[in-house]
Amino acid sequence: MTKLSVIVPCYNEEAVIDRFDAEIRRVLDGLPVEYEVCYVDDGSRDGTLGKLRRIAAEHRDQTRYVSFSRNFGKEAGMLAGLREVTGDAVVIMDADLQHPPELIETMLDHYRQGRDQIIARRTREGDKKVRSALSRLYYRGINRWVDVELSDGVGDFRMLSRPAVDALLALPEYNRFSKGLFSWIGFDTVHFDYRNAQREAGETKWKLGSLLNYGMDGLISFNNRPLRIAIWLGVSLVALTALYALWITVMAATNGVESPGYVTLVAIIVGLGGVQMIMLGLIGEYIGRIYYESKRRPHFLVKESHGADAFPCAEPVVRADGTAAVEPGARRPAR
Ligand code: UDP
Ligand code: MG
Repeated sequence: MTKLSVIVPCYNEEAVIDRFDAEIRRVLDGLPVEYEVCYVDDGSRDGTLGKLRRIAAEHRDQTRYVSFSRNFGKEAGMLAGLREVTGDAVVIMDADLQHPPELIETMLDHYRQGRDQIIARRTREGDKKVRSALSRLYYRGINRWVDVELSDGVGDFRMLSRPAVDALLALPEYNRFSKGLFSWIGFDTVHFDYRNAQREAGETKWKLGSLLNYGMDGLISFNNRPLRIAIWLGVSLVALTALYALWITVMAATNGVESPGYVTLVAIIVGLGGVQMIMLGLIGEYIGRIYYESKRRPHFLVKESHGADAFPCAEPVVRADGTAAVEPGARRPAR
């Protein structure tokens, strides 16, 4: 029988996690599959972990959970889940019931037809007008810059076949922009639409600032085209300046010098200074990424996991002095 694993990253989801668990089990129990639900507690500060412990105790054989030592972000949560689960097909979904569990059945049908990535794409119905217009604009723009195809409404809610999961796990980068990685691995992909639901309880972790940062990540995570643009912009500016200087010289030679051009000078200096700062920042972004990659830190640290005897640590547990207290693959020491 096909084994289905469901990965659920949770950060401060105390208010909704029980309801989610009941829903997902109701759906999964009705499907002709074996299943496991793998919760990843991303360093929640509320009672999420306590609830997960209770859920895991109640449904021992069909539940796993991993709890991080602090908040490492949803990307790290998904990665931890992908490393933990053993299913032939893997679903990633949010804990807030914005991803309707009923859709898993549709995904399973596609999976049985041999698809490797089955992506649920939400429609923008019910969203704020400004927000959906902005994100449409963003995706239209970004697809010109990046090598991978990113589409509007496509999030992390999807089913992946085992080969697709293994392909994702083979990408070791520290800066993980999942939307891009999912698209980068390719495989047989199919999309279907669903109506976006409102969050059941709790609140979104996305503030405007983090959305803007996420947008920037998408822009520079996949190639060095922005650097290319910077070079071309520089070249055009130099060419423009040369033409302008030539024109000024010719005018001065023929008519003599009329006006001192003070304002023009200041505007040009400040303008060019600004352009240089932007370019420096851009280069800095790339260097920053190299910096983080070169440290080779683990993506997350595990504080606690259910069934630690049965499931080895996915990541090394590191002491404060940097030495490994528990090697990856080793059992966590009992206390
Ligand atoms: N999440 C997480 N770590 C974080 C932020 C969010 O694991 O640092 C989880 C969160 O618990 C939820 C999912 O990621 O299950 C999506 O988060 P949210 O609902 O806040 O995002 P939105 O639906 O508003 O895009
Ligand atoms: Mg949500």
